[in-house]
Amino acid sequence: MMLKPQYIAIPIFAILIAVEAFVLIRRQPGLFDKKDTWTNILIGFVSVAFGTAFALVTSFAYLAIYEISPIKMPMEEWWPWVLLVIADDFLYYWFHRFSHESRVLWNFHVVHHSSNRYNLSVAVRQSWFGGIAHWIFYLPAAALGFPLWTFALIHGLNLIYQFWIHTELIDRLGPFEYVFNTPSHHRVHHGVNKQYLDKNYAGIFIVWDRLFGTFEPEVEKVEYGITTPLNSFNPLWINTHAWFEMANRMRESETFLGKLRCIFDSPNMDFKEAAKIGIGVEKA
Ligand SMILES: [Zn+2]
Ligand SMILES: [Zn+2]
Repeated sequence: MMLKPQYIAIPIFAILIAVEAFVLIRRQPGLFDKKDTWTNILIGFVSVAFGTAFALVTSFAYLAIYEISPIKMPMEEWWPWVLLVIADDFLYYWFHRFSHESRVLWNFHVVHHSSNRYNLSVAVRQSWFGGIAHWIFYLPAAALGFPLWTFALIHGLNLIYQFWIHTELIDRLGPFEYVFNTPSHHRVHHGVNKQYLDKNYAGIFIVWDRLFGTFEPEVEKVEYGITTPLNSFNPLWINTHAWFEMANRMRESETFLGKLRCIFDSPNMDFKEAAKIGIGVEKA
């Protein structure tokens, strides 16, 4: 977690964001939103700083679990590396799924989704404070006996993989679409069209979505963003607004159970559910 290969990739990300922007502007100036792109990049840089700080602290939890685990992977062999790529991606799937299906985690992850554009700069638009919580999902990798540096390396490569799928410039990729997460699959993930909500959580392998029933192919043109558009370019507000919305909902809720559900339930709670716990109709 301290060693982050995704940070080493920053110059390559910068070049690719610039190339894509150039292509989009030439194609049709309306496709490109300068303000949104710079907001994404600024949020990305600050998230690197926060991410590093949180990782310095949370690495100790990983190290502690690794130490007490009776299992130690023989990393000089090839197969534990394959296992680690698969295990890390599996854990990412569940981390990402909970980040959408439980409001307390959505409050962090919403940052990545609140741009109503879809381009490579959105890939680096990441929560500043997500590092508070996401490490918990990766402790099983420590328990399985993967040393911290090997986990940090493979996890970083996983995140690097996820960069290039944030583009509209790449169409379907044939048989590659069956196994791997692709721009088409991830466009669906960023969609607010009804059929696209809470779909395609994959990191590298789309197989997890196919297995766990959250797969949706790209058919209808994707509308990007969140269901209640934020309309803000203030990076601090983008990173915090969801917490205020949650607090408001908790205040509105009449019962203790209702308040708890405001924290842990899905942000896409439907009308009936909202009425049951005594709060107004869901906006998110
Ligand atoms: Zn997401
Ligand atoms: Zn994304």
